[in-house]
Amino acid sequence: MAITMTQDRKNTRADRETSHADQALGMGSDITRRDFLNTSLLASGAALLNPVSPAQLLARATSEPAANDDWTGYGGVGDYANSNGNTTAVLEAGHQIRDGVFDAYPANAIDTGETYDCAIVGGGISGLAAALSFQRKAGAGKTCLVLDNHPIFGGEAKRNEFLVNGHRLLGHQGSALFWPPYPHSFIARFYESIGLKTPRLEYQKWGSAEPEIALEKTPYLGSAPYGLFFGAKFGQPEGVWLSDPWGKRLEGAPLSAKTREEWLRTQEPSNAKKPEYRGDAISRRLDTMTLEDHLMEKYSVSRETVRTLLADEGGGFGLGPDALSGYTGYAFNELGPIPEDGTQMFPDGNSGIARLMVKTLIPEAIAGGNSLEDICRKNVNFSALDRAGAAVRIRLDSTAVWVKHNAEPAKSQFVTIAYTRAGKTYRVRARSVVMAGGSWTTKRVVRDLAQDRREAYDQFYRSPCMVANVAVRNWRFLYKLGISGCQWFEGIGSYTLVRKTALCGAESPTIGPDSPVVLTIKVLYPSPGKSAEQQGHVGRAEMIATPFREYERQIRRQLHDMFARTGFNVDRDIAGIILNRWGHAYASPAPGFYFGKDGKPAPGEVLRAAPFGRIAFANTDLSGMPDHKSSIIEADRAVEQLLNEVLTD
Ligand SMILES: Cc1cc2nc3c(=O)[nH]c(=O)nc-3n(C[C@H](O)[C@H](O)[C@H](O)COP(=O)(O)OP(=O)(O)OC[C@H]3O[C@@H](n4cnc5c(N)ncnc54)[C@H](O)[C@@H]3O)c2cc1C
Repeated sequence: MAITMTQDRKNTRADRETSHADQALGMGSDITRRDFLNTSLLASGAALLNPVSPAQLLARATSEPAANDDWTGYGGVGDYANSNGNTTAVLEAGHQIRDGVFDAYPANAIDTGETYDCAIVGGGISGLAAALSFQRKAGAGKTCLVLDNHPIFGGEAKRNEFLVNGHRLLGHQGSALFWPPYPHSFIARFYESIGLKTPRLEYQKWGSAEPEIALEKTPYLGSAPYGLFFGAKFGQPEGVWLSDPWGKRLEGAPLSAKTREEWLRTQEPSNAKKPEYRGDAISRRLDTMTLEDHLMEKYSVSRETVRTLLADEGGGFGLGPDALSGYTGYAFNELGPIPEDGTQMFPDGNSGIARLMVKTLIPEAIAGGNSLEDICRKNVNFSALDRAGAAVRIRLDSTAVWVKHNAEPAKSQFVTIAYTRAGKTYRVRARSVVMAGGSWTTKRVVRDLAQDRREAYDQFYRSPCMVANVAVRNWRFLYKLGISGCQWFEGIGSYTLVRKTALCGAESPTIGPDSPVVLTIKVLYPSPGKSAEQQGHVGRAEMIATPFREYERQIRRQLHDMFARTGFNVDRDIAGIILNRWGHAYASPAPGFYFGKDGKPAPGEVLRAAPFGRIAFANTDLSGMPDHKSSIIEADRAVEQLLNEVLTD
């Protein structure tokens, strides 16, 4: 009893302290986030002092309707309002698979009576591309079903929408960029076939009477002016800014002369030889070491410098350089070098590409015509996605939990796919299957998967990522610093910037310091020193266990600490925060992933080489390149394999 009272007293004092600090951070402000209910319970200081386990938090969240819980938080408006990142329903179904709930065939599965020529598991860019390839190549009369576990198609290529001061603002949830393709390439023809005929988009122009400051058109720092913020980790409890860091050669940065020199070296061209093609001696050597060791060797820098200042070098693969294959530093260019200044982005990232694909597959699925404007701005007609009798159907909120041939794979006639939807289990049959959902579910739900394929999938590690989109009413606080973006090295996230938006989805053709914008903060969960697999587990547990409100607090504190001095008022200027939590966001290739180790072939090659019975494998992770082009190429290859080797009668 005495202990309880002491604890109560402690909590009361802590509550008060938390509440004062929260008020200063504007936690009570009336932002759009307040549209959701029931925040008070988890929001209390007591809840934060007695943290719940990931399982408890998830159980609480899943007992609330989507968008009404303090795990999901506010989801924005529009087509994606109930689908910010992995939803609680997606997590729950995924954990049921992991925990063996469907290891035995679900005897209560309701037979829909449907048989498809091809079933595709996963409705991201890869699954949608597989459906397009199948529709085009299999011939008239052939049917195809896409199953996806989220409330809307697109996988990691989804969007958030905010309404701020009457302006509709779009942001990406994950997959963001595309690049103008080489004119006669497979990707050029694919883009053209989905209506992306002019892959160089038009962007907002400067619209203020004040002097122009350059802006990126992507969420990544580039040539537009940005600043570095150094905080307590560098002995600067109040924080110091360094703008134009490379022009000033880091003069004024609170770093030792040695660290400064090392960091500057990483910005200079290096003499280290790059791979010329995938599989040459240089690339094979790189795949035997970590990216961290490669960076240390390439630039003659210390491990400490890599860990403190170059952690983002692994960001495109979801981890720090210490756990990734050295070849990740080059894999991204494999599908052709990226043209200078050619990078493009729809206002909602590659959600634009996913929407173009769905419009092509099912023209009534998005209102309006085929223009990029209509595809960006008009709403999804959900009732058109899964119409009885249609050649292509997209079934959402459906998690495939059990996929198995009806006989020995080589001799089977069809595959049974059981999926859960709104608390019930259903089954369909298919003459062929493309598994496009990714390694982490495929290896568990394909029940008769052969040992060699299973061992290959065991070498795929996926890492979590949270993409926080923060709508702000203006970005004058950056403008006053003479920058449009920034990087920091402690706290939540590590960079953000203002980007000019492609006109096909922009509310205004111009932008200035008083325009409302979406700032994107990408949060990764590396724990240097652990294996890629362990880092994924540890990071996921942290991401799942953290309530919305705690992340809101951290984001507010970060922005306050960096920008209060230039007039940013967290209470007044933040218009909304949406969190997109991706449990298995990135494929994180460890050494040996690309070219194999211990005399064994690379795991991706094992899965690409041939279908397993009536099942072929797609998804971007097979290539080890976080690039939607590889999602499309893997999908097309999988469909070709099924048409050539499986659907032969
Ligand atoms: C933060 C982030 C930023 C990125 N930025 C870029 C970028 O700028 N440009 C770029 O080209 N690429 C980028 N990528 C890479 C991105 O992975 C690809 O571009 C592409 O979107 C992946 O598509 P996919 O279909 O292969 O996989 P996913 O998008 O993961 O789609 C798979 C879908 O299948 C679902 N699924 C899985 N298992 C099941 C099941 N059992 N039943 C039903 N459904 C299931 C998944 O939930 C998901 O909806 C980024 C990735 C991340 C995480």
